[in-house]
Amino acid sequence: MVVPYKREPLTDFTVKENEQAFLEGIKTVESYLGKDYDLVIGGKRVSTEEKIVSTNPANPNEVIGRVSKANKEIADEAMQVALKTFETWKKSKPEMRADILFKAAHIVRQRKHEFSALLVKEAGKPWKEADADVAEGIDFMEYYGRQMLKLKDGMEVESHPYEDNRFGYIPLGVGVVIPPWNFAFAIMCGTTVASLVSGNTVLLKPASATPVVAAKFVEVLEEAGLPPGVLNYVPGSGSEIGDYLVEHPKTRFISFTGSREVGAGIYEKAAKIQPGQIWLKRVIAEMGGKDTIVVDDDADIEVAAQSIVTSAFGFSGQKCSACSRVVAVGDAYEKVLNRVVELTKELAVGDPSKKSTFVGPVIDQAAYDKIMRYIEIGKKEGKLLTGGEGDNSNGYYIQPTIFADVDPEAVIMQEEIFGPVVAFTKAKDFDEAIDIANNTEYGLTGSVISKNRYHIEKAREDFHVGNLYINRGCTGAVVGYQPFGGFNMSGTDSKAGGPDYLLLHMQAKTVTEKY
Ligand code: GLU
Repeated sequence: MVVPYKREPLTDFTVKENEQAFLEGIKTVESYLGKDYDLVIGGKRVSTEEKIVSTNPANPNEVIGRVSKANKEIADEAMQVALKTFETWKKSKPEMRADILFKAAHIVRQRKHEFSALLVKEAGKPWKEADADVAEGIDFMEYYGRQMLKLKDGMEVESHPYEDNRFGYIPLGVGVVIPPWNFAFAIMCGTTVASLVSGNTVLLKPASATPVVAAKFVEVLEEAGLPPGVLNYVPGSGSEIGDYLVEHPKTRFISFTGSREVGAGIYEKAAKIQPGQIWLKRVIAEMGGKDTIVVDDDADIEVAAQSIVTSAFGFSGQKCSACSRVVAVGDAYEKVLNRVVELTKELAVGDPSKKSTFVGPVIDQAAYDKIMRYIEIGKKEGKLLTGGEGDNSNGYYIQPTIFADVDPEAVIMQEEIFGPVVAFTKAKDFDEAIDIANNTEYGLTGSVISKNRYHIEKAREDFHVGNLYINRGCTGAVVGYQPFGGFNMSGTDSKAGGPDYLLLHMQAKTVTEKY
């Protein structure tokens, strides 16, 4: 019997030893900056001429690593290996697969600060965010390992004395895993290990902004005993090998986390049956959000303001769960707005490798340009109260930005910005506030700050989001505690870190034996 699952604790950086250990982690990462990383296919290293160059968003001259880039031919080779390996891996014992995850979790735990430091360097994550990202990855391994042990014997169905029925789950086949850069460890790890532990083989195409942390994780799984060919590491461009693999007739499922635009494209491509394809592909998609915090007129303003600031500006708002809209009722509007502006002006913006930094850079030039475009739109649609400035002279820095008095239909109230920008709007009563909150094509997270039990009840029923929080912020779902995934254009509501997540990677088989 394995011990019950418990979340990985977060690191307290006010403790001197922890701070020291993290600085050591940064040093370790600095010792291997700029190295080359190969593709991994069937356990073999494959080097290509063309490389993805991964750089530090806080200092684009610093190269984190140069990663070989697969083309279609190599991607197809990886597919053949994954197909062949599936024939043996699908018969491996679930207990053995779970054990590999537990060992990998242990290895990452031993190197936790190194992995976090790598996220600081490669993704521009401030310390606390990086630490939470790695802890979440550990949680995914510990949790999914245990979930597999629960599912391995199937579920109970009825039988007759003359006829035995059994109902169990078998793996699907080859999965193409396409994780994002914003949880470059947690989501990359979670989507990969969920696929593997349920008996599938995987082609992992890491996010092009953060391929090095994924390469390091592949090494961890090898060290933990994952057989060659089960996980194949195939970085490359989305338009070249991403699309190719999504459309490949042998792809059985796709696990994607990223933008609405790319996700919708994958969904469409996966739906088309290719010559030689004999199944309907499954798509597990986690896409964007336009997440709202509703502040009721009786709300605790300090709780509301703190929740908004953390949810809007943590990791520079680059989370699909980030708060990008605030709807405040009546008199609460001015109060919460003023306090949020005050708190935001105190935030430390700068180099994420410094412990004190709260807001680091955004991921790259394209993100910087896009967010700055939205800020320009925001200046026309609302009143700029703080921020609004960017500086990309060295690193892609954008000041945390607040717009007030924005119409619910405005562009910055409707489109996902994925940056440190939040828009405020006023509602006349709680019902209207919920209507405004629901007035979006997304449905991922949301919060309600209220003391009114009737309003809380109304929110439980009517606030149409996959993850609703009451009297706290709307980011930071914990594996095994708050299964995470959203409605509508936020994706397929596949609840990562939830008890039914692994089932999405399997198919049920009923066997009846007549006596
Ligand atoms: N699970 C994360 C949270 O609850 C967000 C994941 C994402 O941004 O993709 O904040």
